[in-house]
Amino acid sequence: MGDTVSVSGSRTYDVAVVGAGMIGASAARHLADAGVDVVLVGQAEPADRRTHDGVFASHHDVARVSRTVDPDPVRAWLGDRSVPQFADVAARTGVTAVNPVGHLWVEAAPGLDLVAASGDRFGRECVRRDAAATAEAFPFLEAGSGDSLWEPPPAGSVDPRAHVRAETAAAVAAGATHVEALVGSVSVDRGGPVVVSTDAGDITADRVLLATGAFSGHGDTPAAGLDLEYALHTQLLVHLDGDEVDRLAGMPSIIGKDADPADDFYLTPPVPDLRPRGPGDRWILKIGSPQDDHVRVGADELAAWFRTDGDPTFAANLSRILERLVPGLRDVGRWTTSCVTTYTPSGHPFIDWLDRDAGSAGAPGAGRVACAIGGNGYAAKCAPALGELAAGLFLEGAPGRAWPTEVDRGLFRKRFAG
Ligand SMILES: Cc1cc2nc3c(=O)[nH]c(=O)nc-3n(C[C@H](O)[C@H](O)[C@H](O)COP(=O)(O)OP(=O)(O)OC[C@H]3O[C@@H](n4cnc5c(N)ncnc54)[C@H](O)[C@@H]3O)c2cc1C
Repeated sequence: MGDTVSVSGSRTYDVAVVGAGMIGASAARHLADAGVDVVLVGQAEPADRRTHDGVFASHHDVARVSRTVDPDPVRAWLGDRSVPQFADVAARTGVTAVNPVGHLWVEAAPGLDLVAASGDRFGRECVRRDAAATAEAFPFLEAGSGDSLWEPPPAGSVDPRAHVRAETAAAVAAGATHVEALVGSVSVDRGGPVVVSTDAGDITADRVLLATGAFSGHGDTPAAGLDLEYALHTQLLVHLDGDEVDRLAGMPSIIGKDADPADDFYLTPPVPDLRPRGPGDRWILKIGSPQDDHVRVGADELAAWFRTDGDPTFAANLSRILERLVPGLRDVGRWTTSCVTTYTPSGHPFIDWLDRDAGSAGAPGAGRVACAIGGNGYAAKCAPALGELAAGLFLEGAPGRAWPTEVDRGLFRKRFAG
């Protein structure tokens, strides 16, 4: 990644953001825009995930579903607030993360009614169709007997790597420093600045934001012991050639909810394969499913899962769903990957001060180390707004930086396990 610098031991930053992922990069951009002297510290993408022995990221992937419509009103609000920010960062950097192909949600009532209400609330001009009209609008799909709701562009999908690249570039252009390094510890000494120890040397800052995703348990930091669970995901990726992509023209991102949860899925439509394997241009279509089986495991177990290609039984189920959803799909290759999502008890990230003695009031200046951890499977589409909330912790008291009244702050309070 460009504009990366090495560690300079003599400088103390206002804020160090640890974790250059979807939320951390967005938070760094918001802080830099507000004139804060911020350093964004994170590990680069592993060259070979099978042998990598550091931390992993949940954004090293080709696409995530991006939409405003959501049965959860807070997520819908955060999604809506992210839409102009994705566009703004793309305009500032020339790096476009959003693939505005529209989004299709397929579900029977009353589930779909809730989703449709969120579209109305944010004026998205969504189109609701019964099964026959859905088949007519998307002739390559066999979406089942439920109704569908189509959210127009800029809903669609988001390239999570591009999002991080764009936010990092925007932050650096606004004065932030970007350091590629693995953080081993974050130590708070009452007398001095917070010390972020990395494999490239120590970084000091007055305050620190930990945005370390699934790897908050790595090393020795104040995020240790947060009340987090993880879902271990398997995804099926399918290679398509140009003719098949032409046949699927107009395919939106899709979420399908079924009476049998084993048939629930999400799909991201074809995007160019930027790391082609084999001859000719290739596109990647991806399908996965929610993983309700959450586990409590440590960073080492999560890293071990990331080194695998996922679970073959899960992959077989995804193949079955895909073949039914897109009959006659003509692919020129398939493979699977593993990934992890991080869950909190409230269903929203912990965005809060971690200092146990800072209290939960989050009074200005009360904390030294905060966190923005626990994407709950939705932090890609809402990353700019979640980064804004996290940056806001450090900007409290500044005009226009109060916690937004639309979002219950209690949902974002940290909780330690046990
Ligand atoms: C299979 C799958 C499908 C998903 N689908 C969607 C979707 O359709 N829509 C959606 O909105 N969301 C989706 N998500 C969720 C979304 O990708 C995550 O919520 C989001 O990536 C979380 O952002 P984050 O910043 O918390 O974590 P990450 O993006 O993982 O970033 C954390 C960063 O911290 C770094 N880090 C951690 N520890 C250290 C350390 N000690 N030193 C240095 N760096 C460190 C990591 O390397 C990483 O770069 C999906 C996730 C998965 C796994």
